[in-house]
Amino acid sequence: MVREPHLLLIPYPAQGHVPPLLKLASKIAEHGIKVTFVNTEFIAAKIMATMPEKAEKGSLIRFVSIPDGIEPDDRNDPFKTKDCMFRVMPGHLKELIKKINQSDECEPISCVIADICLGWALELAHEMGIPRAALVPYGPPTLAISFHVKKIIDAGIIDNDGYAMPMTDEWISISEETHPWKRNEFNWSCPEEPMIQKIFLEITCAAAETVRISNWVLSNSIYELDSPNCDLVPKVLPIGPLLASNQSGNSAGSLIPEDSSCLRWLDKQAIGSVIYVALGSTTTLNQQQFEELALGLESSGQPFLWVVRSNLVNESLTRFPNGFKEKLAGRGKIVEWAAQEKVLAHSSVACFLSHCGWNSTTEGLSMGVPFLCWPYFADQYQNRRFICEVWKIGLDLTPDENGIVTRHEIQRKVRRLISDDGIKSNSLKIKEMARKSLVEGGSSFKNFERFISQVKSC
Ligand code: UDP
Repeated sequence: MVREPHLLLIPYPAQGHVPPLLKLASKIAEHGIKVTFVNTEFIAAKIMATMPEKAEKGSLIRFVSIPDGIEPDDRNDPFKTKDCMFRVMPGHLKELIKKINQSDECEPISCVIADICLGWALELAHEMGIPRAALVPYGPPTLAISFHVKKIIDAGIIDNDGYAMPMTDEWISISEETHPWKRNEFNWSCPEEPMIQKIFLEITCAAAETVRISNWVLSNSIYELDSPNCDLVPKVLPIGPLLASNQSGNSAGSLIPEDSSCLRWLDKQAIGSVIYVALGSTTTLNQQQFEELALGLESSGQPFLWVVRSNLVNESLTRFPNGFKEKLAGRGKIVEWAAQEKVLAHSSVACFLSHCGWNSTTEGLSMGVPFLCWPYFADQYQNRRFICEVWKIGLDLTPDENGIVTRHEIQRKVRRLISDDGIKSNSLKIKEMARKSLVEGGSSFKNFERFISQVKSC
C-alpha cells in the first residue's frame, strides 16, 4: 500500500527564518501534501497572534509547538539561547516524531525539512532513517562559502584559532568562477564581537555537514541569479523566490503585527515616488545614526515610508530630531512593521533602503525595486555586493570616517538612484527573471516539481 506523504517542517526560531519555511509549507500543501509545522512555543504564540485566520482553515498544514527551554531573561543572549535550543529541542522533536509515527490519526513522517541552521534536526531525521531536506534561507554565495570554508581555513587564508579573521586584506575567492570577497564581507565577520564571530563561524562550518547528510538542499533563490555559486554546492535545488504573494497573499509568519495603514497611505502617493525604508528584524542604530537617517529622508525631498521597530534604536528611548514629525506634513509615514511584500509590490514605491537581509533582497528583486544598501552584519555584505556589482540593481550607502551614514550621503544616493535608468531597467529584468523562474517551465518551478515528485515516492 502506498503511504500518503507527510512532511515535518521546522524553522529556526527567528523572524527572518520562520516566513520562508511557512511559505514553503504553503507551496507543499498546494500539492495536496500534509505538513506538520513545528514552532517553538515562544514563536508559536507570536505567529498565531498575527496570522490571518483564513491561513489555517481547511489547510493541510497542522501547527504544533515544542519548548525551546530558554528562560525569559536569557532570550537576548545568543550564547545561552544557542546552547539551550541545542540541549532541549532535539529531545522534544524526537518525541514528537515518535508520537506522530505511532498515531493512527495521521501518516508517519516521510520527510523532515529543517532550516539549514538547525543541522541537529536533520541529524535526528538521519538517525531515525527519515529522508530530509535543508532549507537555506540565505543566498547561494553564503551557502557556497559555508560549504567551502574549510578549504580557505586549510589554505591559511583565514585564521585557524576559532575566530577566523582573514589574514589578508586582499580579495579572497573560493573558486575562479565566483565573485571574490573582502575580509569584512564573510558572513561570520564581526571583529568587534569576537565571541559572536566564533558562534557565526561554528554555524557556518556546520552547514557543510548538514548539506552532506541531507538528501536535498532547497535554496530560496533562483538558479539564474547566481549559477556559479549554486554549482559549487552539491544537491542544491533553487526553488525561490519564496513569496507570500505566490500563495494566499497573506504575510505568513510575521512575529510583529503589521500596520496596514501604510498601504492606504501609499495609495495616495505619486507612482514611483516613495522611498521604502526597512532594516529587517534585528538591525539596531545608535541615536546619532537614527537622527541622520531621519534628516536624510527629510532632505531627500521624496515621500518615504519608514519602518521604525520599537527596538530599532539601541537606546531606551527612540528620539526623532526636534520638530521632525511636525515637519513631515504627510510626506513621511512611520510604522512599527509593514506588510513588506505588499509595500514592495506597490506602484508608488521608487526604491528600497534596506539592510540587505536575504528575504528582503529576494522580495525587493522579485518586485523590481532598486535598492539603497545599508548592510549591518552576517550575509548582508555579500547580498549588498551582488545587488550593487553583479546584478547592478542598487547603490551602496557609504559610512563616513566615523562610521556614520550621513544625511548628505542619504540625500545624494537617493537622488542618484531615482534618476538612474540603468539600475531601474536592470531591476525590471531581474524581476522578469524571478517571475519566469516560478511559472511552468521555469527553473524554480521545475526544481520544486522534481522535489515534490521525489518526496511523494519516499
Ligand atoms: N518584514 C516585514 N515587515 C517589515 C520589515 C520586514 O514583513 O516592516 C519582513 C520582510 O518581508 C522579510 C523579513 O521581515 O521577510 C526580514 O528578513 P530579512 O532576511 O530581510 O532580514 P532579518 O530580519 O533576518 O535581518
